[in-house]
Amino acid sequence: IQPRPTILVPGRINPRVTDRLAERFDVLCVPHGPDLELGEVEAARVRGVAVSGALPGRWIARLPNLQVISSFGVGYDAVDVAEAAGRGILVTNTPDVLNDEVADTAVALLINTVRQLPQAETWLRQGRWEREGPFPLSPLSLKGRHVGIHGLGRIGREIARRLEPFKVRISYHTRRPRTDLGYGYFPSLTALAEAVDTLISIVPKTPETFKAINADVLSALGPNGVLINVGRGWTVDEEALIEALRSGTIAGAGLDVFQDEPRVPEELLAFPNVSLMPHVASASVPTRNAMADLVVDNLFSWFETGRVLTPVPETPQPVK
Ligand code: NDP
Repeated sequence: IQPRPTILVPGRINPRVTDRLAERFDVLCVPHGPDLELGEVEAARVRGVAVSGALPGRWIARLPNLQVISSFGVGYDAVDVAEAAGRGILVTNTPDVLNDEVADTAVALLINTVRQLPQAETWLRQGRWEREGPFPLSPLSLKGRHVGIHGLGRIGREIARRLEPFKVRISYHTRRPRTDLGYGYFPSLTALAEAVDTLISIVPKTPETFKAINADVLSALGPNGVLINVGRGWTVDEEALIEALRSGTIAGAGLDVFQDEPRVPEELLAFPNVSLMPHVASASVPTRNAMADLVVDNLFSWFETGRVLTPVPETPQPVK
């Protein structure tokens, strides 16, 4: 009888992943600390990894028989893909199954930001409606806005589709224009920001996207401008954003992601025209279950058929 493959799970992951993995694998759970707490013999047994969050290259280097890394989430920037690729180790992520949830949340965050709905609810819950009267009118509205989408990939496209019935204009910036969609294309982010008054960012964390939304882009967005970020905190120069909000360079912001999560700058908490969420864009039970299933199904598929379901582009599956 072939021994059951050993799958390493470093740190916390959705329990559905470990429950389902245990049906067919030996599952080795270790705490997520500065080092991989694993003896050499155990490390040599590991053939697959299921991980939510960081998998540094020095950990991958300690696993001599590793074949596949199944990463929870569509963004896999915390996994050292270059180290994996150098050793022919496949990396998988969980694309598509979260598109609807993240797009729904992006639209909700946009409306919350312009209409200040979370603040209005707090007003009611604090008894201020009864004591002080109606909640103040929101200075901003979604009506008549021109929305620029930074990143029109799997999720960006779903955001755009959802915005169509809101009767806003829609444009976008990506490195290459999409020939299959009719929205207005801008070849640079600054040009997009100049043209629109609402910018939604949904791009991956890459060297190119680091602080792409900087003081110049915010200034181009202008005094009626609203920034929504549901991609990665990495993409926004947070200091420049705080300054733009303080000086009225833009009108408001809605953020689900931050530079140094879970730490959120005090200055952002203090602005009345900002809506903040703790990185919850995909965080519903049904969507997280679907993501957990894809993490597991990639590993089942690899050890049964020698193919994975959703490899990342940097580690393409060899053609058979
Ligand atoms: P895709 O790969 O499908 O789309 C990425 C889009 O970004 C493409 O349109 C791509 O177009 C564009 N893009 C990439 N690099 C650049 C660049 N340098 N400048 C301009 N545009 C760029 O990814 P998804 O839509 O599936 O996911 C996007 C990201 O959203 C994830 O990587 C993740 O980080 C984040 N995310 C956040 C979540 C949350 O909880 N807040 C949940 C899910 C995802 P092109 O290649 O032509 O430039």
